[in-house]
Amino acid sequence: MRDVLIEARSLSRTYRHGERQVVALAAASFVLNRGDRIALAGRSGSGKTTLLHLMAALDTPTSGVIDWPALGARETLLPARISLVFQTPSLLEPLTVSENVALPLLIADAADPADRASGAERAVAAALARFGLEALAQKLPEELSGGQMQRVAMARATVGRPLVILADEPTGQLDQATGQALLDALIAHLANTPTALVIATHDPAVSARMNAVWRMERGVLTEAGPTSGQP
Ligand code: ADP
Ligand code: MG
Repeated sequence: MRDVLIEARSLSRTYRHGERQVVALAAASFVLNRGDRIALAGRSGSGKTTLLHLMAALDTPTSGVIDWPALGARETLLPARISLVFQTPSLLEPLTVSENVALPLLIADAADPADRASGAERAVAAALARFGLEALAQKLPEELSGGQMQRVAMARATVGRPLVILADEPTGQLDQATGQALLDALIAHLANTPTALVIATHDPAVSARMNAVWRMERGVLTEAGPTSGQP
């Protein structure tokens, strides 16, 4: 199996604000390997979300190259191979918690009918249990707190078997203890799997749990090296 999941060279993304251009990502080059645990650190506006969306093939670079050597063609990546936990609320309002968590499986099944209903219910129950959401299974998103919604989004991101999980400030709305518990559950779930994890965060406590930190500053990505943390 190939180890390189995502590889980028001189990846740039510029947004246009009328006459003005904002360079959200400036010539970033990086490699994401199997099993990596990366904290993407940087202040608000530094380009973290832009980079995650490019890694998820949800956005197209203005220039540069991005490839997914071990993952396949770009249109097949989401949500089966790569899952993205959005920074903003992303649950579908008419669906229950349980139905929201099942969505990636439904989409994958639609692509591959042979797989239909193969253990989907069990997978959803396991994903809910992983993040302590069993009691909320039949609730609608409007009945949840912001922190509960983030946990549901995280459960949804782990329900399939993605090879990359990109989480955009997933503990941003949680108190320290709840944020740590969410991270514990995620890291425990991914232990001994090849799945790579990239978490955008402001929180040094989150960065310390990862193996390496990538720093973003005004669109410039620097690989700051390994952390001393034990994931
Ligand atoms: P972060 O996630 O680190 O807060 P972002 O990637 O959201 O940073 O934003 C990086 C820069 O790009 C910011 O200056 C932001 O204003 C700008 N930007 C982000 N998204 C858009 C967009 N859709 N249109 C225009 N500018 C954007
Ligand atoms: Mg952001």
